[in-house]
Amino acid sequence: MPELLRAASVAPMTPDQPPLLEDAAVVLEGDEILDLGSYSHMKRLHGGPVRDLGSVTLAPATFNSHVHLEMCHMLGRTVSGQGFVPWVTSLVSQPLYDLDPARVRAELFRMEQRGVGFLADISTRNAAKVGEILASSGLGFASFFEVIGNETPADPASLLPQVRDVDDCGRGVMSLAGHALYSTSPELIRAAKGLSLERGLPFSLHLAEHTDEDTILLYGKSPFLDLLMARGYLTSYTAPERRPVPLAQELGILDEGTLLVHCVTVTDADVKIIAASKASVCLCPRSNEFIGVGEAPVRGLLDAGVNVCLGTDGLCSNADLDPYGEVAWLLERHPGLDLVAALALITANPARYFSRSIPRARRLGSLAPGQMARFSIVPQAVLDICSHR
Ligand SMILES: [Zn+2]
Repeated sequence: MPELLRAASVAPMTPDQPPLLEDAAVVLEGDEILDLGSYSHMKRLHGGPVRDLGSVTLAPATFNSHVHLEMCHMLGRTVSGQGFVPWVTSLVSQPLYDLDPARVRAELFRMEQRGVGFLADISTRNAAKVGEILASSGLGFASFFEVIGNETPADPASLLPQVRDVDDCGRGVMSLAGHALYSTSPELIRAAKGLSLERGLPFSLHLAEHTDEDTILLYGKSPFLDLLMARGYLTSYTAPERRPVPLAQELGILDEGTLLVHCVTVTDADVKIIAASKASVCLCPRSNEFIGVGEAPVRGLLDAGVNVCLGTDGLCSNADLDPYGEVAWLLERHPGLDLVAALALITANPARYFSRSIPRARRLGSLAPGQMARFSIVPQAVLDICSHR
């Protein structure tokens, strides 16, 4: 028998419906959405019990499009607000890759409670283990193994972790990510991107996160480069003398299958290149603020037609892994951004990107007949920001 979920307001996040339905109901049949519309209309059409959620705004389950779960134990252990080099120095001076599975499971549970339905994780040392943990959660996911350094294997397929539990669970994939253009050699980045293309998998890359990145790529000089060499991440370095976005374009890695993370230091010309390439962008505004690297031009990216998503980044540069925190941050600072446009950054937009390669993502991100019955409730703090404008 169907069941009606009634709420004061529902954000369907589909072009077929108004942005917000007032006094609405979503009709559920098992794990699937059967129908939705005004409560009075749904009540007439469908029998079954009513769960009245009261004065809440119901939205689709959210996507957190960039996380580093292997660093959950680093919460509160890095310096904040002083720029990238002091932050990363404090990070790498500690056991940053000591995965704490119990802590990761606790964070996943907390995310699910807050309505996260999908996450994209980046793991440098523990991808297979994180993949197993994600497979045992209720979440849809992309579990990226992040390649770094300048050793490219003869067979790029050997880079991709094989995780039986991930293949069997049907909710996610293992894939490959590049760390950044200065820390992963062009050959290795091309090999990882090439394999992702061949297998129809998503590909993620940190790009244009901080000004040291520009300096390293242009001039081959930065205290951060010295740190990478000293720590053994790189054995040699020749500056390509290009800024991040034009270099990514030259390497042939900008296309619909690529998710560019951060994009803080992009210029107007860079934004045009990204928009023309159809690559998606994931912004992590609270992480950028925590580290002290500046703010990405969210308005410029949206106006250029870029598919913009949001991620929290790891607990080494954020207080929690709830993407509604990123939404609140943006809404507070961008009065021109409305609630539904902000919700799209954690629902419809990432669903569009991840749907290309992950069937579970196709059934999330919007509330419509046939979609999965996965929801989030828009936090009151987010609604308050919008109502106080
Ligand atoms: Zn990251």
